[in-house]
Amino acid sequence: MNNPVIKCQHPDCKSTNVTECFYPTESGREEKAYYCTDHTPLHGFCRLCGQFWTGVEYFEFAILHDGMGGVCENCEAELREDLDDYEEDDYFTDYL
Ligand SMILES: [Zn+2]
Ligand SMILES: [Zn+2]
Repeated sequence: MNNPVIKCQHPDCKSTNVTECFYPTESGREEKAYYCTDHTPLHGFCRLCGQFWTGVEYFEFAILHDGMGGVCENCEAELREDLDDYEEDDYFTDYL
């Protein structure tokens, strides 16, 4: 194996199922850290795309008030589109 295994950088976490976390910059993006899906939002990054969102009011609001918390505005919009598709099939109706 030439590729080193990347582990979640949260203390004591051994997960290798990591998201590449980054800050948006003028030139594109700057990789900062790798966290697993459990710890990505704890460090202020979107759990799906890894973009830094701490301090963005919408992101924190989503964590507090929405079961899908921990994802950025962009990813949540995509998730909601997926949910709409399911609802058309009455997929979630049994759980309401
Ligand atoms: Zn972790
Ligand atoms: Zn995202």
